Amino acid sequence: MHFDEIFLKGKNQGIFVKKLAENIRRLFLNTTVKRIEGGFFVGNLDESQIERFAGMPGIAKFAEAMVCKRNLADIQKCLLMQNILPGQKTFRITASRSDKQYELTSDKLNCELGKYFFEKRGLNVDLKNPDINCHVDIGRTHAVVYGNLRDGVGGLPVGTAGRVMCLLSGGIDSPVAAYQMMKRGADATLIHFQNQTRVTDEVSEKIIDLAKKLAQFQLVIHLLIVPFGDLQRQIIMKVPADLRMIISRRMMFKISERIAREEKCQALVTGDSLGQVASQTLENLTAVYGSVNILKLAPLIGSNKTEITKIAERIGTLPISIRPYEDCCSLFVARHPQTKARVSDVEKCENGLDLSGLDKLMPISYNISMSSPC
Ligand code: ATP
Ligand code: MG
Repeated sequence: MHFDEIFLKGKNQGIFVKKLAENIRRLFLNTTVKRIEGGFFVGNLDESQIERFAGMPGIAKFAEAMVCKRNLADIQKCLLMQNILPGQKTFRITASRSDKQYELTSDKLNCELGKYFFEKRGLNVDLKNPDINCHVDIGRTHAVVYGNLRDGVGGLPVGTAGRVMCLLSGGIDSPVAAYQMMKRGADATLIHFQNQTRVTDEVSEKIIDLAKKLAQFQLVIHLLIVPFGDLQRQIIMKVPADLRMIISRRMMFKISERIAREEKCQALVTGDSLGQVASQTLENLTAVYGSVNILKLAPLIGSNKTEITKIAERIGTLPISIRPYEDCCSLFVARHPQTKARVSDVEKCENGLDLSGLDKLMPISYNISMSSPC
């Protein structure tokens, strides 16, 4: 496998490479990870693990490689097992030797194996722009053969960019926002505001399942559940319908800011997308984001729902996100929500609330891994 962006890291490259190797070892316990020229050799992944591997932040390109003995007959067998995709008409062999004592030079290997592949497969040689480039690497004990390179997601390994706190609703967008941050190297902590007075053991299975899905990229995810029911009820009683959503989100931000500082997270992350719903106009985002001083990040702000949904599908959160979920009480949602809230009106309204409990609201915390029981 190869990592392109990590190579831009100059003197720090070693830290990124080490972190990626560590992440692969921790996420795929039975695997071996060996540093090779330009990437890693990762051993023993099964079909389902390969799909997960493809979504791992930091991996730009990879190929499913075969390991065999170094004699020509065995290498030829592996070559014939390379998958030729529909429409692939040309090929080249790219042989290299890390063991220079090997009896054939790279040129000789290219010739011998090229002739063999041409005869058996009937594809034409194209050295400049082949449809399939068959690599044969001769090591000291074994040979490695691989063909089509597949795209990984690229980006940076999780854990190289500091910690962020991601506000996770039960919807499609926020798990994708958390993933986008992980893809840029951030270590994500999730915070969810639940429509309950007390958090009991019955934390929504949906939220746990979303966290478990995201843990496939990070191994262990810290999930915090905040009981938000009392505050929601107070907002319903004291705030006019058109401002309820904005004030509720300001409360979420204020509580998240305090907890983020305690958890050493440097930013709040949301799944906001400009104009998607009434609470996401520039005016309303100003009213909500202005309620706290910590850095706020919205990685999906310029993305359309279809683009976001595509990513959700790829990372496996979509089927969970579309399950029904009572996130907030139906009384909460105004028929005509304010789309251009004025900060002064919002603050005036907020002054009428009893927020003395805000600082004492304690989340219940869970450490979620892919295999956590529900
Ligand atoms: P999503 O945006 O994930 O599809 P949604 O559309 O229900 O869910 P919005 O009402 O669009 O959520 O809220 C915008 C953002 O606010 C969410 O992406 C999320 O980051 C945050 N948010 C909303 N509700 C909650 C909640 N109950 N707990 C934590 N964060 C929330
Ligand atoms: Mg949304």
